[in-house]
Amino acid sequence: MVKLSKRLRQAIETLSEALPLTAPVKITRPKNMDEWGSCEKLESPDRFIIRINQRLTDDYAISILAHEWAHARAWTDDPAIPNHGPEWGIAYSRCYRALFEP
Ligand SMILES: [Zn+2]
Repeated sequence: MVKLSKRLRQAIETLSEALPLTAPVKITRPKNMDEWGSCEKLESPDRFIIRINQRLTDDYAISILAHEWAHARAWTDDPAIPNHGPEWGIAYSRCYRALFEP
């Protein structure tokens, strides 16, 4: 498992302070992923797992982090709520602004 870069760790810290999650989060950079990123919620222990494809550059990894962090912020177990619906969209815009607005 690759170590997280300093820039990625700083982005995680920024998001943790500005937009905290309801459970601890573990962020990893797996090598063999078909997707760019993923977010899942475990029940015991209660925690989010965010995976960011190791092949991505730092810039790309940080934008994927914003996308996946928004999934964690908007997390619901209600199957009627779409993955990339309005709740996620609002959460994503907040993550984006926390990371990229001066
Ligand atoms: Zn998504």
